[in-house]
Amino acid sequence: MRGHVGQVELIGLPDTPLVFPLKAMYPSGDLGGGVAFEDLLTAEYLDPQTGLTTMPVTAWLLRTPDAVVLVDTGSGDLPAPGMEELHPGWPASTSPLIANLAAAGVAPDDVDLVVCTHVHPDHVGGHTTTVADRFVPTFPNARYVLPRAEYERAAEEAADPDTPTMFVRLFTDRVQPLLDAGVADLVDGVHPVTPEIRMRPAAGHTPGQMRVDVHSDDALAILCADVVHFPFEITHPEIASDVSDHDPALAALTRGALLAECADRDALLVTTHLRAPAAGRVRRDGERFAFDPGWPRR
Ligand SMILES: [Zn+2]
Repeated sequence: MRGHVGQVELIGLPDTPLVFPLKAMYPSGDLGGGVAFEDLLTAEYLDPQTGLTTMPVTAWLLRTPDAVVLVDTGSGDLPAPGMEELHPGWPASTSPLIANLAAAGVAPDDVDLVVCTHVHPDHVGGHTTTVADRFVPTFPNARYVLPRAEYERAAEEAADPDTPTMFVRLFTDRVQPLLDAGVADLVDGVHPVTPEIRMRPAAGHTPGQMRVDVHSDDALAILCADVVHFPFEITHPEIASDVSDHDPALAALTRGALLAECADRDALLVTTHLRAPAAGRVRRDGERFAFDPGWPRR
């Protein structure tokens, strides 16, 4: 999972996949319009015997001519604190993020910027690490760029006594320590991260989610974060989750617009949650969209 977009190299860093019942995300049992899960998901995503889906989680390393940038940091070590309450029996695992970075020739000290698309467990899990029981930034020389609306939402949720422990700890362990250490930049609107990398609002899945655009030498890639979770959301962008999407109608609108932009601008769609190669081209297919997975040849 790697390729170039102009002068920028993108390298996928697979983290521990998430395994959960698909019905937890789509409790209605079908995807709407009489379409069943089985029709739309291959066995790689859904085990028809158990109903369990396996969702890859990929953080992205971006090497620009001047900077080493991480987009999201995966799930961190699982189960996360408080996760047992929500997902009993979630298997324990240690995040391979740092090992995968090392395989790409990057040490934590080398990372200049960590870009956060949104504050969910599978995107900020590796933001911090523990030293003597304190949570400190995993990448000691990096600035962390976070959507301001995501920070504010997560802070508000953490202060609510009804919020499950996992989401409280997500904020107190993975996000607030970055502000306490003075390494966080909270941003709004369209935010240039480097000359090639730009964050743009992509609300719906969460209120403040931002996508990450890489533009170099007339080539464009759009890192869509959780605008897309499954291949069927490309062919059926109108399908949103009443459970995992904060605003399902807005999530569907944002997805349709982003896919249209990919098709019309010949942008490479780069995902967090699709299986390898995790990236590809979106094209119009009559009234709908189709996806051609793969990385551009250099
Ligand atoms: Zn996600």
